[in-house]
Amino acid sequence: MQPCPLCQANESIIFHTYEKFTLVMCESCQLIYQLQVDKVVPEQLIKDIYDRTWVAMRDIYATNTFKEHASFSVLLLDMFFNKKGKLLEVGSGTGEFLWLARETGWQVQGLEPSADACEYAKERYGLELRNEIWDSSLFEKEEKFDAIVFWHVLEHIPSPISFMKQVHSLLAPGGRVLFSVPNQHSLTNVLQGASSPLFIEEDHLIHYAKKHIEQLTALGGFEIISLFSREEPTRLEYDLRIHPVAIPGMSEKDKTRMMVGLQSNWHGHEIFCVAGVHHE
Ligand SMILES: [Zn+2]
Repeated sequence: MQPCPLCQANESIIFHTYEKFTLVMCESCQLIYQLQVDKVVPEQLIKDIYDRTWVAMRDIYATNTFKEHASFSVLLLDMFFNKKGKLLEVGSGTGEFLWLARETGWQVQGLEPSADACEYAKERYGLELRNEIWDSSLFEKEEKFDAIVFWHVLEHIPSPISFMKQVHSLLAPGGRVLFSVPNQHSLTNVLQGASSPLFIEEDHLIHYAKKHIEQLTALGGFEIISLFSREEPTRLEYDLRIHPVAIPGMSEKDKTRMMVGLQSNWHGHEIFCVAGVHHE
């Protein structure tokens, strides 16, 4: 067995064996990751999954993506930057966030491994995404960014420490990273266990909880500025439908109380992190 991609411990236990892959849990830090994660070729996985069919579905979801993801992520930019500068997004998908960021005044660049997604972003938003998987050598030595963002990307990356170090090297002085990952301790995962839709996705290579993000950012040379978990109202509605104790007549007041409770107890669906360069 290969060591844990975060803490390097050698001991792990089987979390669950699926048809095409096995998830293990590190006995030392409880990170959940794919067995032989070091041999996964994410480029191929991503190309197979994020094809034309997936992109076609984006039209249906675009409205929600705008409302609940892209607009919230742009709000984060406003909260953590005094001025707009150069922004790099790793894994732009179909481009909703990057388009909105550009609309608010950022100079944007985006990398996206799916050719179909790049084509969609160009037609719909006039964005010229680079059809590339992450590689720090894609950038000139002098090229630096004020903000580097990656929403739901880390879980697809087999060697997260080296990724974070590479991102670090591309930041301008005072630059910051903003990112999100699915939460290993989300209500969805707590309720559904190994059969949760988050665990069964073959391209979800690593499942992080709060402490793992703290450890990963520190190892990458970052200092956390803000770390929180978020539960979207639509996600809670979905989770409540499969909740064993869901009460059909649950009031809006109870739902809202539950939503904020999940967020403050680190059971929100996603973990968001804003981090800056650590100064000795
Ligand atoms: Zn570990």
